Amino acid sequence: MDSASAANSWKIFDEVKPDLKPKEVMEEANRCLFCFDAPCMKACPTHIDVPSFIKKITTGNMKGSARVIMDANPVAATCARVCPTEELCEGACVLNDASLPIMIGDLQRHTMNWAMKNNPQLFEAGEPNGKKVAVIGGGPAGLSAARELARFGYQVTIFEKKEKAGGLDTFGIVPFRLPQHVALWEVEQVKKLGVTIQTNTEVGVDVSIQSILDDYDAVLLAIGMADVPPIGIPGEDLDGVLDAIQLIERVKDGHVTERFVGKKAVVIGAGNTAIDAATCLKRLGADRVQILYRRSEEEMTAYPFEFSFAKEEGIEFRWQTQPKAIEGDSDGKVASVVCAPMMLGEKDASGRRRPIEIDNAPFTIDTDVVVKAIGQTRYLPLIEAFGLAHAHGVVTVDPLTYQTSNPKVFAAGDVIFGSGKGEAMVVAAAEQGKKTAQAIHEQQLSKI
Ligand SMILES: Cc1cc2nc3c(=O)[nH]c(=O)nc-3n(C[C@H](O)[C@H](O)[C@H](O)COP(=O)(O)OP(=O)(O)OC[C@H]3O[C@@H](n4cnc5c(N)ncnc54)[C@H](O)[C@@H]3O)c2cc1C
Ligand code: SF4
Repeated sequence: MDSASAANSWKIFDEVKPDLKPKEVMEEANRCLFCFDAPCMKACPTHIDVPSFIKKITTGNMKGSARVIMDANPVAATCARVCPTEELCEGACVLNDASLPIMIGDLQRHTMNWAMKNNPQLFEAGEPNGKKVAVIGGGPAGLSAARELARFGYQVTIFEKKEKAGGLDTFGIVPFRLPQHVALWEVEQVKKLGVTIQTNTEVGVDVSIQSILDDYDAVLLAIGMADVPPIGIPGEDLDGVLDAIQLIERVKDGHVTERFVGKKAVVIGAGNTAIDAATCLKRLGADRVQILYRRSEEEMTAYPFEFSFAKEEGIEFRWQTQPKAIEGDSDGKVASVVCAPMMLGEKDASGRRRPIEIDNAPFTIDTDVVVKAIGQTRYLPLIEAFGLAHAHGVVTVDPLTYQTSNPKVFAAGDVIFGSGKGEAMVVAAAEQGKKTAQAIHEQQLSKI
């Protein structure tokens, strides 16, 4: 791809997966067995009544279908695009044993596309009850809680440090899987219920923690995780070393750059973020993109559909490869990565085989760009300023009520996730937001 076509063509960021055609929608919806006690509904973390929304598609009741979906999941347009459905609803479909599972995610996407186009008012705010809740962070966890609290009659303010709400749905998941307008439509649905969203407002900087604790009846901490941590090898400060989350954010927000055209790139890490960053680089014109991972394909944490997509996009994987140093040229620009080959030993505490360096066998990979994608850090100073109990930045909560060590403060979403495969998901954040709203409501009712 030449520089002009890479920079100017927005088609590179069009959604990769097409919508189902109307005929396909009807054929697929009519394949559903409408199971009583449906396993798909149980397997969905937000427990969408899947048979009910699919039945409504078959009878042309699209508003009813949208209402069923969004009643359970306030960010369902996003989830229809990014849920690992084969591990959730579709994985539980009884038709897996007979033929192919119902394409639940695609049918949900069809209904949500109808809703985005027709914009019906699906829900109303509850009768005001005079209570105020502060939600810190406008990602899926915060939006979901705010929507439910507004339906219960609370006056809700979301404090969001970025210029737009939506969290990683707006800024973190690549546009060719989740266009930004989808996430922003979901933000609008929450606003329509009277929720105030104060953007460009960082709690702990623009608003004090004490004023939040003093001015509100309850507080929800839904701040997610922070940037990618340093790898801890020499050369990380060279020109051409990037943070995966920041790279995707620039792409997602439309700040496309020409700097990758014809370049060689290396991505360090093998989770979903690494794959999203690698596929972004490829679409921005990089000639060769290699993902380096110190363990093997078996231990990688990316979802299978992400791995397949990366391979289709021409991403190369170099397993059991540990970067040791990034080397620069005389202008201070990245030129290569020095790596060590690894072998795998016994299983460690994470249940995965431990990588062990093979001595005296270093090798060099020439590259123009290095992207770090080895997980995310936590907003430790804010968590500690709230005085909340935590384990290495993962806020400790009651598993049923999501209440933290401060009874007035609740927490949901990535801020309470430990590390591990498949845990940090939009649909899980949405469900926790809902449950937290319910717990806050019960706490406030008990005070009357
Ligand atoms: C690259 C990438 C790809 C992913 N792909 C998928 C996928 O395919 N499928 C899937 O289900 N999940 C995916 N995820 C995970 C998913 O995005 C998260 O689990 C989900 O967004 C968590 O929601 P959250 O509301 O807890 O946090 P976030 O979405 O991170 O939202 C937190 C919000 O809090 C704000 N905030 C932080 N600090 C403050 C403060 N002090 N004051 C005010 N606001 C603050 C942030 O700006 C942000 O808007 C992906 C994540 C990444 C990084
Ligand atoms: S929200 Fe996700 S898991 Fe639940 S039914 Fe929809 S696509 Fe499946």
